[in-house]
Amino acid sequence: MMQNVKKALGKYWGYDSFLPLQDRAMECVVAGRDCIVVLPTGGGKSLCFQAPAVTMRGMAVVVSPLISLMKDQVDALTECGVSAARIDSTQTLRERNAVFDRINNKALKLLYLSPERIFADGFIEFLKRIELSFFAVDEAHCVSMWGHDFRPEYQKLGLLKDAFPDVAIHAYTATATEPVRQDIARYLRLKNPEELIGSFDRPNLVYKVERRTDKLTQLCDVLDRHKGESGIIYCIRRADVDELCAKLAERGYQAVSYHAGMKDHNRKENQDAFIEDRVEIIIATIAFGMGIDKPNVRYVVHTGMPKTIEHYQQESGRAGRDGLEAECCLFYSGADYGIWKSIMGAMEPDAKEISIRKLNDIYRYCTGVMCRHRAILNYFGQDTAGDNCAACDVCLGGLDCMEESQVVGQKILSCIVRLEERFGGDYTASVLIGSRDQRILENGHETLSTYGILAEFAKRVVRDWIEQLAAQGCIQKTGEYNVLRVTQKGWSVLKGEDVPRLLKPAKSRPKISKAVKDSWEGVDSGLFDLLRKLRMDLAHRKGVPAYIVFGDAALRDMARRKPSTTEEFLEVNGVGEKKCKEFGPAFLAVIKEHSR
Ligand code: ADP
Repeated sequence: MMQNVKKALGKYWGYDSFLPLQDRAMECVVAGRDCIVVLPTGGGKSLCFQAPAVTMRGMAVVVSPLISLMKDQVDALTECGVSAARIDSTQTLRERNAVFDRINNKALKLLYLSPERIFADGFIEFLKRIELSFFAVDEAHCVSMWGHDFRPEYQKLGLLKDAFPDVAIHAYTATATEPVRQDIARYLRLKNPEELIGSFDRPNLVYKVERRTDKLTQLCDVLDRHKGESGIIYCIRRADVDELCAKLAERGYQAVSYHAGMKDHNRKENQDAFIEDRVEIIIATIAFGMGIDKPNVRYVVHTGMPKTIEHYQQESGRAGRDGLEAECCLFYSGADYGIWKSIMGAMEPDAKEISIRKLNDIYRYCTGVMCRHRAILNYFGQDTAGDNCAACDVCLGGLDCMEESQVVGQKILSCIVRLEERFGGDYTASVLIGSRDQRILENGHETLSTYGILAEFAKRVVRDWIEQLAAQGCIQKTGEYNVLRVTQKGWSVLKGEDVPRLLKPAKSRPKISKAVKDSWEGVDSGLFDLLRKLRMDLAHRKGVPAYIVFGDAALRDMARRKPSTTEEFLEVNGVGEKKCKEFGPAFLAVIKEHSR
């Protein structure tokens, strides 16, 4: 049966190999074994159930939380020549009846539904009369309160096992934590499910973190590197979104906004313009993103620090879903930490403690100097394969470390000791730069031997070094006021047995990453631009987003291989039979013209 699945993969999607774990996930589906598949965004979860559904007897029912998600997937499947449909509240009676006809005529391979719909007016009884291949539950973390999108109606899906004891249920999510996985198995009442958990590393994402000094200039740097490409800019507050939108417009960048304070139809209009490639930049709060499957987002910028690493991983993960390189930049400042902390002030004590712990984790990520891929993976209990990811500011040498790291580190640590480990980072930095602050004079700390020993540096630089030392485990912050303590590792630095890594105060630009170079290897970029234009025209004519015609990866492969016959065109990665027939002649003509 897997032979048939592989054939379908080539015929309908134009792919000749599996992404990691896809084959094992598909084996579970064809074998009718319940499974939980945890793959990161862009890991290719949908194909895990779509490809087997095409080859199996009967119709698969896919449960999905959002109409926009269902619509996206059904449109993309239809475009590949797979018979799929959805039933949702936005359809007219006529459209809905047409879908029922297709179901009754056994003409449908995949049916997309919301959980509410399944349990509405006799639908279960209707489904019992249909031959079903399996149930696929997309975004399965919605069953769990530990996840970030809890939906009570998802918990009712447990009833499916009673109603259809012989039909397998497969659950898919990108949320990796253990409690969420346990909840999925429990609430969906899965029978001895196979758990397949992929690596959460996204090697095609290039992570960069910068202290925010001049937001607009730093941001425009990124935008200028990605002219003509899609990108998302996240802000912490709604007001920041509106302000930034206006400022970018003044500078000639065309961007639209998205936040919860806007009217529904304006928000939708802006979202559609972004998804359909009519506008390149969207500026948003975190209200934007769930259900956005746009594969060709080439960069995600955070203009402020998110409140947890989970949020950062999810939001930055919206870049590069098509597997091609994409850039994720985070601009942070100590002030962001303050904003979040004051928002958390109103929480009840237990929840507050967890939130502050998570806030400290992301702040440590920002100020830290460990490989960004490794830091994120470690947070989720995984690790990177090699030592140098070649896809983050740390490993690319974009971070300039100081030659005098050891001496500077010792100066800071010994100041903490002289202050009898009774003060926080801000106060300590003030003493080190020799500030005449009232409190310092009142405490008589201007007489300490470490007073002013880093006077040649700005306070913010020294403050950063303190955070870097904390991130490397040389300093521990304790109590409500984050009082600094020197750890055992800190003492080895003081004794000269260990050397910390401290960043040079001056900024320097990272070099171009390997990921960027590789995916453009051999691509004729002039031809690529022509093909992009053709794709845009065809998409406009059909009224679909550009990526529904072909993804960027397929377009680059065309501009690399320059096929001249239909057979050669079919060899292009991402070209299946239906699209070859529909679009092949137009693309071949442009390639031929260009080669001439
Ligand atoms: P997820 O739902 O896990 O975020 P998607 O199903 O949207 O991921 O897939 C991400 C991208 O990878 C899509 O553009 C999809 O077409 C592509 N993809 C999926 N499977 C393969 C494969 N076997 N070979 C090449 N590309 C694939």
